[in-house]
Amino acid sequence: MKKDFDYFNTLLVQNVGSKVGPIAPTIVPSAAFGYEDAQQAEGIFAGEVNAPLYARVGNPTNAKLESVVAKMEGGFGAIATSSGMGAISTVTTAFLRAGDEVLCIGGFFGGTYTLINETMKRFGVSNSFCDVDDFGHIEAKLKAGVKMVLMESVGNPSLRLPDINRVADLCTVHETLLVIDNTATPLIVRPLELGADIVVHSSTKNMSGHSAALGGIAVFRAVKEENEKLLNEKYADVHKIVKKMEKKAFIPICKKRAIRDMGMTANAFGSFLTMLGLETLALRVERINKSVERIAAILNEKLPEGVSVNHPSLAHNPDHARYLSDFQQGCGPLLSLNCDTKERAFKLLNSLKLVTQTANIGDNRTLALHMTSTIYSDFDAETRTFLGVDEGFIRVSIGLEDPESIAEDFLQAAKEMI
Ligand SMILES: *Cc1c(COP(=O)(O)O)cnc(C)c1O
Repeated sequence: MKKDFDYFNTLLVQNVGSKVGPIAPTIVPSAAFGYEDAQQAEGIFAGEVNAPLYARVGNPTNAKLESVVAKMEGGFGAIATSSGMGAISTVTTAFLRAGDEVLCIGGFFGGTYTLINETMKRFGVSNSFCDVDDFGHIEAKLKAGVKMVLMESVGNPSLRLPDINRVADLCTVHETLLVIDNTATPLIVRPLELGADIVVHSSTKNMSGHSAALGGIAVFRAVKEENEKLLNEKYADVHKIVKKMEKKAFIPICKKRAIRDMGMTANAFGSFLTMLGLETLALRVERINKSVERIAAILNEKLPEGVSVNHPSLAHNPDHARYLSDFQQGCGPLLSLNCDTKERAFKLLNSLKLVTQTANIGDNRTLALHMTSTIYSDFDAETRTFLGVDEGFIRVSIGLEDPESIAEDFLQAAKEMI
């Protein structure tokens, strides 16, 4: 079946809702769960009986969210977490140890950059970052045996678009785990189908849309019967779990080696709110991706001299060809404005009437934020350049409002700025 927006509208409402009993997902707030007897307790702890153990390692409301998102991403299973960073740190801490190296390709969200380049580094995991198309570096690092490749489906906020197929094929050849942050492009990019092993999301963003629930989720493929990467020698410390749990091994690897010991677990109420968002995700993604293109085109035509708009749908963007070939349904809610200086950017932002200034993306409302004075304020000039932001850079996340009204708001603010 063709996985278009009609497909996802059906899949999401049918899976979030129930036909019998309560139609909306039920919230189970209990932190602990009574066992039938000592034997059942033993079975639950061994992973042989499927019943809740303790809310830090799983909860029935989270389990419902996990099953819906696993279906949506074409995965075998998922783990809901306390935030998007919780999902990424679950994966990095479950698979990496001191002495390992991570390869990071393309643009990155600030928190992911500091997780890899500060926190994981502090624990002895080294890294390198490279441009989306630096295949010389990518192949050299894969040959040298890096243990994980991390990239965003669309760089936030650089809007660099990677060649996911080519990276995935190389990761298959070199038996290396490929983790893709798909926060910006749920439904329109499906990394597991392209060959990724793990997909992570900040569900706080597009999935919820309402800014009412901080959350994240990691989605996993099934362990294969043949040519399984995880059986490569470099993953020797998880072989015992892979051999015992077979198909579903990604889940116990992450639960036992990250969630159980660090507790970045989702809460039932947050997961419930995330599911309310998921019911309308396909409708919102379809509308917003159309609006972004429309708004980018209007701004490109009408912005006064001294401020420019950047989006891969525009012919001058370096990734325009890849946008046309690989991102036919769009590349998410972001576009960016460049105003040259911080003073001018502040003036534009403070003249906006409809747009909300906040550090979020993928909201139902249109949002904007100056980058170097906020999320990227801790980074040096070189890192900012690599991550694609400079003093005049404003990140915009387009919402559900009338696209003409959104464009009009930016145009009137740009006039105020000059
Ligand atoms: C926001 C974001 C994250 C972090 O998610 P939180 O839910 O804020 O922890 C990770 N990756 C991307 C691409 C994001 O936009």
